Amino acid sequence: MTDQNGDFAFLPLGGTGEIGMNLNLYRLGETWLAIDCGIGFSGNDTPEAEILVPDPTFIAERRDQLAGLVITHAHEDHIGAVAHLWPLLQCPVYVTPFAGAVLRRKLGEARLLQEVPIHVIPCGGTFDVGPFNLEFIPVTHSVPEAQSVVLRTPAGIVVHTGDWKLDPDPLVGPPTDIKRLKEVGEEGVLALVCDSTNVMKPGASQSESEVRRSMTDLIGSLKGRIAVTCFASNVARVETIAMAAQAAGRTVVLVGRSLRNLDVAARECGYLSSVLPFLNEQDANDVPDDQTVMIITGSQGEPRSALSRISLDIHPNISLGEGDTVIYSSRMIPGNERAIMAVQDNLSRRGVRVITDKDHFVHVSGHATGGDVSTMYDLIKPQYAVPVHGEWRHLTAHAALAQDKGIAPILLEDGDILRLAPGKAEVVDTAPSGRLALDGGRLLPMNGGVLAARRKMLFNGVVIASFAVDDEGFVIGEPKLSAPGLLDPDDLESVRVREEFANALDVIPDELRNDDQAFRDAAKTALRRALGRKLQKRPLVDVHVLRV
Ligand SMILES: [Zn+2]
Repeated sequence: MTDQNGDFAFLPLGGTGEIGMNLNLYRLGETWLAIDCGIGFSGNDTPEAEILVPDPTFIAERRDQLAGLVITHAHEDHIGAVAHLWPLLQCPVYVTPFAGAVLRRKLGEARLLQEVPIHVIPCGGTFDVGPFNLEFIPVTHSVPEAQSVVLRTPAGIVVHTGDWKLDPDPLVGPPTDIKRLKEVGEEGVLALVCDSTNVMKPGASQSESEVRRSMTDLIGSLKGRIAVTCFASNVARVETIAMAAQAAGRTVVLVGRSLRNLDVAARECGYLSSVLPFLNEQDANDVPDDQTVMIITGSQGEPRSALSRISLDIHPNISLGEGDTVIYSSRMIPGNERAIMAVQDNLSRRGVRVITDKDHFVHVSGHATGGDVSTMYDLIKPQYAVPVHGEWRHLTAHAALAQDKGIAPILLEDGDILRLAPGKAEVVDTAPSGRLALDGGRLLPMNGGVLAARRKMLFNGVVIASFAVDDEGFVIGEPKLSAPGLLDPDDLESVRVREEFANALDVIPDELRNDDQAFRDAAKTALRRALGRKLQKRPLVDVHVLRV
């Protein structure tokens, strides 16, 4: 590693590239600060693992120098990995009240609540973490209490936006604090590390208040049962749907665990106070179906979600059909298109009308458009632009926008260590980075042996042979063979492979039979040969030898 005396560096360990799980690190001299710690959903790319987290090995090895973890907001891709990675980091965590309520529930489920030191910082608050003097600046986003973080250091000021947009009338929480951002800009900012998700959309963002008007008209015009699906954490949207329902004389029913959890966290922090408490699906039985609006989980086609089960008519309490409507008040996250379409197809087959943001104005993004990002550069006037949180086409479009504004862009990949000061900002080193899969309760490297074996099994199946040998290494009885995911036990091909394998075992040279490892290797080769080319696959192969 290069000179670390008093220099100021930025290192994204997650957040660039196609799966946006954020883990950002800053270093001042010898001390590290982490901002956000999120999960990613793998979609279709890696079917062997559903939930991914950034590989924290680099910072875990330096955790004595890690002063703290700051969470910008309560979205899964920013907060979702804390409960999984904290045991490796063991540092204090700084959150706003709402993010704190969400985090405490997650830590409670992971039995970590007593161990993690949580510091709740008010929105817009200032606080010190190690040598970093930090300030939260409230920004609008599709979750309450999103904050940009100002890092003040002797080596310069960085503004780390987190996820944000401009909306003069966000309905829940204050608008982005433009006045404060401008004041910080006037202090002289070294670098703006900024969200790129929606930068390719030109112009300014649309407002949640416009969605509320449109949703109120739409729900007022519909007959029959109505279900609206949205992200559970989008409290402003939940409030929009609830107010539209109330205006139409309908009662709101929450369906799905994540919505109920978020409802509790939101009301705990004083949100949703202007709408009546929601019914749960059991209480809803007393209310005629056409006098309710259901807010429901499953906007991304998640197979176990309430909406997926309703679409297949296998939900225990709710069914939808002819004359009913499902509104998708959400966007399709890339990678989920097929799963979402499948649910929408199943709903249509039952006669349900499906309305998405393509048919009607029922959704706005929570991320800054190109116009918003341009305004941010005007306010902050940084020396350097560091686009983060987006796929490469977003990052490069963001860099081009910064360049047009006369600000030098720096594009980073996960693992790049960018020295911001002293001297000209440049990438000086690379830290190991990568992704881990969350598999049950374990963290497994995506490129490690377990998942490599699972990938192979997934596409090529697995063949396991077992047989007993006497003390001289000669086979007793018939070998047993199982090939789950590849061959049925009574398949003729299974019989052929077993017979050929038995024959091949007989001709293994005698000198290999007394060495367990050599015998096993020879038997594996024999098994591969017996499988032959007929299956046109190379399954994972294993052999168990039992000496009796
Ligand atoms: Zn977010």
